[in-house]
Amino acid sequence: MKLYSTNLNAPEVSFREALIAGLAPDRGLYMPKDLPHFSKEEIDSFRDAPYPEIAYRVLSKVLEGEVDDQSLKAITYDAYNYDVPLEELDSNTYIMRLDRGPTASFKDFAARMMARLMQYYLGKENKSLTILTATSGDTGSAVADAFYGLDNIRVIVLFPTGEVSDRQRKQMTTLNGNITAISVDGKFDDCQAMVKQAFADEDLKHLNLSSANSINIGRLVPQSIYYIYAYARLRDYPEDIIFSIPSGNFGNMMGCVLAKTMGIPVRKIIASVNENDEVPCFLLTGQYEKIVPSKNCLSNAMNVGHPSNLARLITVYGGAMDEKGNISKEPDMARLRNDIHSGSVSDDQTKATIRDIYQKYDILIEPHGAVGIKGLFDYRAESNDDTLAVTLETADPAKFPEHVRAETGIEPQIPQSLKEIEEKEEFMDDLGTDYAGFRKYLLEKLG
Ligand SMILES: *Cc1c(COP(=O)(O)O)cnc(C)c1O
Repeated sequence: MKLYSTNLNAPEVSFREALIAGLAPDRGLYMPKDLPHFSKEEIDSFRDAPYPEIAYRVLSKVLEGEVDDQSLKAITYDAYNYDVPLEELDSNTYIMRLDRGPTASFKDFAARMMARLMQYYLGKENKSLTILTATSGDTGSAVADAFYGLDNIRVIVLFPTGEVSDRQRKQMTTLNGNITAISVDGKFDDCQAMVKQAFADEDLKHLNLSSANSINIGRLVPQSIYYIYAYARLRDYPEDIIFSIPSGNFGNMMGCVLAKTMGIPVRKIIASVNENDEVPCFLLTGQYEKIVPSKNCLSNAMNVGHPSNLARLITVYGGAMDEKGNISKEPDMARLRNDIHSGSVSDDQTKATIRDIYQKYDILIEPHGAVGIKGLFDYRAESNDDTLAVTLETADPAKFPEHVRAETGIEPQIPQSLKEIEEKEEFMDDLGTDYAGFRKYLLEKLG
């Protein structure tokens, strides 16, 4: 597997190099040059296979020759030791629950795989590194949990003080050990900007920094597997399927684009966003404008005013976008609009959807999942397309108990993994949004 940079100004690299580096030297994001194609027979063979087995078979083709089979099998079975339920809403609509991992968010799928792959390479090479990551809530906790206790990897996670829930914060601050949490007096975009600047900073090169954000290709590839899994469970090849994906930084959606590239007949990818509607506007007008600052919405892990993965999407459609959001080459907008639909869901609609789904189906969802469902319903209303659809629930309702309680009167049951952190002591450092302060902190901390 060879990877190129979305800024098209860096050498091609191997998967290992892209995984460890995170960002390309030209500040672009790595993308696979070519991906394997799965045949009808292969997809059929996934139908009854356990999730980790599907993950193993998909990854052994995608990463052919990169990781030995025995290690890869051990890694996938160790990473995916939890359920991936497909819950029927009606005969045409399923909710894929990606919220059963240790931190109760879909980010566990990516973080657990990435941590184990990094450990595999670093262990073989006897090296160490520091993961630097910005989070709007769930990445940080999933990454911290996935890397916690690994010998040769230290994790520093930055989160916006006012934008994460108590429970999300505790998931990052109660681990300690090789995990450092930093509370930033700013927004997610500020955290992301500081992290990006640190990666580009020549004076920090000796610190051996790596990223674990959705910008790391090691996170993207595992996020294609559950689309293949859902398709194999629910459809007969070559029947079409629709996925509705609650989106913020668009890494989850890019996983679906990869699955489609690998042969899954996805009729429409619905990228549902909250009131940060820069992508729906872009698809509508062809003009891209970031939202600065991003808006605070109930689905706080999706409060992103400029999704980094947009650059990846644009290269898949023949265009080029730099990290600032400037488009230097137009993508094929007609093909893009044909494959991808993106709609914005307001906070009021999000709340109403949590209520409706509980009243009609007796199912509890949280704000991110509600954005996905409402986005699907809106798409159906305007398109009359009744293809079987899978909408993603990306977090456990217990991570957002206030909203769930307010709309349904029900107190969501807290999964065991979240219960345990309630009473634990918190460890964190506080920083502002200026880069100089952050840099000084890193140099003192890591020397
Ligand atoms: C991160 C996150 C999202 C958004 O995923 P992206 O890959 O950033 O688009 C949606 N829901 C939850 C619960 C998340 O944590």
